[in-house]
Amino acid sequence: MAEVRLRNVRKSFGKAEVIKGVDIDIEDGEFVVFVGPSGCGKSTLLRMIAGLEDITSGTLEIGGRVVNDIQPKERGIAMVFQTYAIFPHMTVRENMAFGLTISGAGKEEKKTKVQEAARILQMEHLLDRRPSQLSGGQRQRVAIGRAIVRDPQVFLFDEPLSNLDAALRMSMRMEIGKLHQTLGTSMIYVTHDQVEAMTLADKIVVLRGGEVMQVGSPMELYHEPANLFVAGFLGAPS
Ligand code: ADP
Ligand code: MG
Repeated sequence: MAEVRLRNVRKSFGKAEVIKGVDIDIEDGEFVVFVGPSGCGKSTLLRMIAGLEDITSGTLEIGGRVVNDIQPKERGIAMVFQTYAIFPHMTVRENMAFGLTISGAGKEEKKTKVQEAARILQMEHLLDRRPSQLSGGQRQRVAIGRAIVRDPQVFLFDEPLSNLDAALRMSMRMEIGKLHQTLGTSMIYVTHDQVEAMTLADKIVVLRGGEVMQVGSPMELYHEPANLFVAGFLGAPS
């Protein structure tokens, strides 16, 4: 069970309130996309779920447990960062094992988990390479592999494809969709790209200025946007 529930979640930086009382439900196994313009609070929400940022007020539940005061590595989540977060001096194998090293896993466990992640990502033949010997898409798969080895109940992605060119973005988008089908875990995916949102999501949360504008399936938002903002962002051309 790894549903995620946010109840009246708020976040202030100093006097500025940037998340203004947000309620969001992510069901077990659901692929939920947060969309909205730059600065609307997508990353801040994700970082609060990950435990990288304190919650000013409200409740965050993961898998039925309130985790407001639980350490990031005990939340059962893994966050996929952009490709620049992988280490150039480490091999693919070492990069993927890194997330396990910091959580104190043994050598055999690391080996098995890295093999399994490499198999899922079809990277078994690349494990001894360094990032400089990989393509952009392969590097992004290393970043995803680093999350997979940790066996999370929930994956968090913060604009993972924004550094890639258009063709690669499309193929990686399909790979992330396949990964979700393979693993069946809950995924929360932040983007400002409406095509990514429409193609990947079971459910889209549209954010604006730290508030939820609308929640719905891609088709609901496309055909029945609640207001002009949502229509302009995701709606059918009129
Ligand atoms: P998004 O990811 O949607 O572009 P962010 O979550 O990064 O938006 O930012 C939301 C708002 O919070 C912005 O106004 C941003 O300037 C502000 N913000 C984010 N992080 C901090 C911080 N550490 N200190 C102060 N303000 C911040
Ligand atoms: Mg952001």
